[in-house]
Amino acid sequence: MDKNLLKAVYSPEDFRERGHKLIDELANHLEDKIQEKSDNAIAWSIPENELDFWENFLVKGDASLLFPEILNRTTHVHHPKYIGHQVSPTAPITALSGMLSALLNNGMAIYEMGMAPSAIERVVIDKLCEKIGYGRDSGGFLTSGGTLANLTALLSARKAKVSHDVWNEGHQDQLGIMVSEEAHYCIDRAAKIMGLGEKGIIKISATKNFQMDTSLLQSYLNKAEREGITVFAIIGSAPSTATGVYDNLEAIAQFAITHQLWFHVDGAHGGAAIFSEKYKHTVQGIQEADSVVIDGHKMMMMPTITTALLFKNDLHATATFSQKADYLLTPTDHEDWYNSGKRTFECTKTMMSIHWYLLLKTYGEEIFDEFVTRLYDMGHQFGKMLQNDPQFELVIQPVSNIVCFRYIHPNLDTLALNELNKNIRQNLLEDGEFYIVQTKLKGIHYLRTTIMNPFTTQEHLQQLLKKIKKYSKQTNENPSN
Ligand SMILES: *Cc1c(COP(=O)(O)O)cnc(C)c1O
Repeated sequence: MDKNLLKAVYSPEDFRERGHKLIDELANHLEDKIQEKSDNAIAWSIPENELDFWENFLVKGDASLLFPEILNRTTHVHHPKYIGHQVSPTAPITALSGMLSALLNNGMAIYEMGMAPSAIERVVIDKLCEKIGYGRDSGGFLTSGGTLANLTALLSARKAKVSHDVWNEGHQDQLGIMVSEEAHYCIDRAAKIMGLGEKGIIKISATKNFQMDTSLLQSYLNKAEREGITVFAIIGSAPSTATGVYDNLEAIAQFAITHQLWFHVDGAHGGAAIFSEKYKHTVQGIQEADSVVIDGHKMMMMPTITTALLFKNDLHATATFSQKADYLLTPTDHEDWYNSGKRTFECTKTMMSIHWYLLLKTYGEEIFDEFVTRLYDMGHQFGKMLQNDPQFELVIQPVSNIVCFRYIHPNLDTLALNELNKNIRQNLLEDGEFYIVQTKLKGIHYLRTTIMNPFTTQEHLQQLLKKIKKYSKQTNENPSN
């Protein structure tokens, strides 16, 4: 065994040298992308080639090129022509808090393993609850992702609303939740994990504007009850992922109150609108929710992965995973908010609270207002541009920064247009100047953009449309392409 190897691994000098070099490389990368010194948002490579490259690199590659190669071979979220998925171009300083968390590696499950970040988490949670409009009983915690947070919220809902002790005794009745057919697939997955089965996921049809049709709620609930399903929760999307449309949270809240259901808001993407003076109307009614999910790594400029799960009544945050039934918990059970592992699904988690606190402390909460407002403004503007161009069809007027549209041509039917738009998107991917994604809505293939970068301008979007038209001609002339 080579003892010197371990010494080398933990050498502070080696770390200092590599660290300075990496920071320089990352700063150059940012300069390159944000200021568009390089043209492309992505240098596309197919999975097989990428695998070959990295298998070879492990054997023959120059170790000093490892980080630069990774930089080249990933998608550049800081490029203004990255208009694809919903992850933030990270505020660069949060890469530093990420490094701090990675090096200190306090596991956060108990207070002793993360004193500062546990207390900081409480400060961050209190701030978020205040912005939602919650009262003094509110609380919550940070956890690893919207998917896990939604599952956790539904477990809390079940514990709070179902009269028998499912946690200890398992299901007796057929339980159910109500959710829009447009909700993120992780809600479906959470319900399946909880054993609700297909029958327990009551999917509410969406209106033609892709919003949950709240006029149907009563009849769906009546039908579920007739079938012996005990419905315990209803979920609103803020907004739904595919189209960026917000459900009517006020109407859902009213329904939940009337029927004593748990009201959960999946604001993974757009819950951050609570910070936007201009767009907070989109989440009107959110203060009535029993629980709310907001992703830091989507509309709040933080690195993956950090999510807030907030509760109108903090008692539920502690009750979720308690062996005791909800009503048996004493006030002292709730007091140790600082032992995170009692409240979160995961045991170990990163010191994610420091990203939130760093941004609040350095730039103030106005930064979240600016970020959300700027991106939603651009979504609206892009919508107008598309509406004014007869070669494009907009799914709906955007209400957030998610914009779905397709290229259209009078001579082509739906099937041909589906094929054409699919090809356009594939050409864009391989071209690499822009990065956008795609989605299928009611059988129609759409191009999907999420304007995540505050430096994406109308000119970039004009260039994108121009490029789409170019590819529409090529693929139209040569459909096998
Ligand atoms: C992205 C998203 C999720 C999933 O969140 P992750 O942090 O990716 O796990 C859930 N719901 C909605 C509405 C989303 O947009």
